[in-house]
Amino acid sequence: MVLLPHSAYIHVPFCRHRCGYCDFSLVAGRDDLVERYFQALGRELSRVTQRLLLDTLYFGGGTPSHLGPNGIRQLFAILANTLVPNEGAEVSLEANPSDVTIDFVAAACDCGVNRVSLGGQSLDPATLASLDRDHSPDDVRRAVDRLLSRACTVSVDLMIAAPGQSLAAVERDLEAVKSLGVQHVSVYCLTWEKGTGFDSLRQKGMLHRAEESLECDMFEATINRLEAAGFEHYEVSNFAQAGFRCRHNEAYWDCRPWEAFGPGAARFDGRTRITNHRSTTGWMTRVLAGEDFTGDCDAMTQEQAARERVVVGLRRRDGIDRKAFEQVSGFSFDAIAGGAVRGWVAGGLAQDNGQRVQLTRKGLLVSDALWAAILNQETEPGN
Ligand code: SF4
Repeated sequence: MVLLPHSAYIHVPFCRHRCGYCDFSLVAGRDDLVERYFQALGRELSRVTQRLLLDTLYFGGGTPSHLGPNGIRQLFAILANTLVPNEGAEVSLEANPSDVTIDFVAAACDCGVNRVSLGGQSLDPATLASLDRDHSPDDVRRAVDRLLSRACTVSVDLMIAAPGQSLAAVERDLEAVKSLGVQHVSVYCLTWEKGTGFDSLRQKGMLHRAEESLECDMFEATINRLEAAGFEHYEVSNFAQAGFRCRHNEAYWDCRPWEAFGPGAARFDGRTRITNHRSTTGWMTRVLAGEDFTGDCDAMTQEQAARERVVVGLRRRDGIDRKAFEQVSGFSFDAIAGGAVRGWVAGGLAQDNGQRVQLTRKGLLVSDALWAAILNQETEPGN
């Protein structure tokens, strides 16, 4: 049975400039392509044959706020006949702090946006400069005030392990974020993706990756300070005040089906993940020419899907309930992950009360290194 998705993602691939660490699917300084993008998006939406009633709608990028107030209105007009948020739906949009003008906030709220994810990254001018960001700490504060004054939920992204960043600088950032009054914070360690400007500078010895132990200390300080400020650490990278978890991401982590549109956008029907052509111009050209615009198609076996479910489940602080897991995946949790989990429990990385398995804080700190033990295995026949 094919389940209709209740979540949708729209990829808006425009930025003013490309930050040195970023390898997302986007074009920088190509506002001349916006109208063509809108045309292609409208055309892609027509592959959906019935209106989708949504519990969550998420605009990511790129920088959706780069479209400006009129562009946001145009974007919502294009979606209106296809993607319909239910009463009470979460409608999120990613924004660069410097785009969040009073007019922008008015346009976004009028269109139904009720949650903005701000790419703040830091409130320290030196860290922002080291991350090649084009906004100031005051832009972040101003944007937050404007959004909160319209009763919009605000999430702020923070980056840790930036080039040259000290533990003290991270601690100052956390104190500054706490004082903003936002409901949600996402914290990411800088990753050094191949092909980015940062990676080539690192190879030339001009930028340096933070030591692993420093990254760990920064992450631990993050958990301590945000939890002390009343944020619940509900997923490896995410912290929320009570009632403000990101519902869109929770749909991903529950492995519910979702739709996705735009270059590089990946949709999921419960078993198969289909990713659109990653290049913005390639996607537009193919969509508008009526050609296949699919990039990758990842059809998982039922067992692979169950293994992915273990990983996204254990990234969450709530962990995995054995019975619920078996009901939705069709696999016994222990057949899929029992051996690995026993080792983690012995090493203090996980706790297991017989019904629910959760990573400990020590486990969350090293979680990325754990997943190969789940994903790169196969169950014995008969299990
Ligand atoms: S603003 Fe965000 S999406 Fe755009 S280049 Fe920078 S990191 Fe990438």
